[in-house]
Amino acid sequence: MDQFHEGVKRVHLPLAIPLDRQLVARGGSPNSGKMGKGDPNRSGPNSREGVTGRFFVGELNLLAEMLDANLLTVRDGISVSESIVQSNGVKQGGSMSPFLFIFALSDINSIFVDFPDVKIILYADDMVLLSSSLDDIRRSLELLIDCLAFRDLELNFNKCKIMKFRNKGRGRLAKSDTLIVKNEPIEFVSEFTYLGVVFQSSGISFSKHIAKKVRAAILATAALKSLPKSSLSTALKIFDLAVAPIASYGIQVIWPYLTLHDLNKLETVKSRFLKKALCLSKFMKSRLAYELADSEFFMEKLASQFSLPESPTFDKLIDNQLFKISEIDPAFYGAPAMVEQSWKNVCYTMRHALTRHGFHFLLCKRKIYHTSATKECVCKLCDKEIDFYHFLSCDKNDLSLSQAANL
Ligand SMILES: [Zn+2]
Ligand SMILES: [Zn+2]
Repeated sequence: MDQFHEGVKRVHLPLAIPLDRQLVARGGSPNSGKMGKGDPNRSGPNSREGVTGRFFVGELNLLAEMLDANLLTVRDGISVSESIVQSNGVKQGGSMSPFLFIFALSDINSIFVDFPDVKIILYADDMVLLSSSLDDIRRSLELLIDCLAFRDLELNFNKCKIMKFRNKGRGRLAKSDTLIVKNEPIEFVSEFTYLGVVFQSSGISFSKHIAKKVRAAILATAALKSLPKSSLSTALKIFDLAVAPIASYGIQVIWPYLTLHDLNKLETVKSRFLKKALCLSKFMKSRLAYELADSEFFMEKLASQFSLPESPTFDKLIDNQLFKISEIDPAFYGAPAMVEQSWKNVCYTMRHALTRHGFHFLLCKRKIYHTSATKECVCKLCDKEIDFYHFLSCDKNDLSLSQAANL
């Protein structure tokens, strides 16, 4: 709170006093505008029509609002917090705030002229310094802190981290790798999330970024409770609009560094989504979900959508996927869900019966649960050895798909 009061004194008063004096100097009192002179009811300091001193009243109102205390509340979707007074910094959510912030820091680059090997990246209030010299980083940080102090700004040491990018991940941090600036130690970290991308110390691995985004995308899928009731075409659009962007964040930048494992992991975002939309078990083979939905692979879509360059890793992924498709039992293509398309419609209540089972369980003599046919699969009706999708081809079966679905 001490800092808060200091902040108010330093920021509010110097601006407020000259305005006040200026109004008096122009012949009006601070409480009356030029237009309203002699007629206090006609116009006052709140009038949007009047002119006061060198400022329009509207401009004064804008300034007053900027200098006024800002009350913030936090909503978490269920409740609203008590009001918090924002006592420093630019006004949260204010339309002038980005301009004021840029104005305050516009010349910050100039303090690094003595450190040609230090690169600076600024994005909103995030600042990154890059250098191959730890000493240069330390000295430029000290200069930065002095420069900020001159503007009544402080560096938040708790949020400052340093990361050492090592040669392809080889080598550990040396004991001498410590950074103390103005008696404050800066923590070395092995990963850091910058603008939503998780960087690792190897500099060329994004496995943690992929794991994080895949987790978030699968959580987003889990939140789509009515997905199994959506039509398939709607479900696919939901995937493109609500799930794919989460998983593919930063893909254009990190694409060249992704491993086959990363690509496979990303692909699971779509296979998990399809399985949910199709009412399939998550243990079912993904290739079947793609064939049932007649949908392209996620990585293939991303590659064409963002014009991502082909690479040996990508080619390998596609080869693997095509091989898995080629291994699908040909009988699958005669399965009810492949022959009958009505389950793709909205609110098709028996979707799970068609997509998951193919009604094999109605005909097969085997009692144990199974998801593919073996030599022990024999039809209860025709007594023949059967494939997994015998339902439609059995000449002794009189049941239609909808009758079977209602059993
Ligand atoms: Zn069977
Ligand atoms: Zn049969």
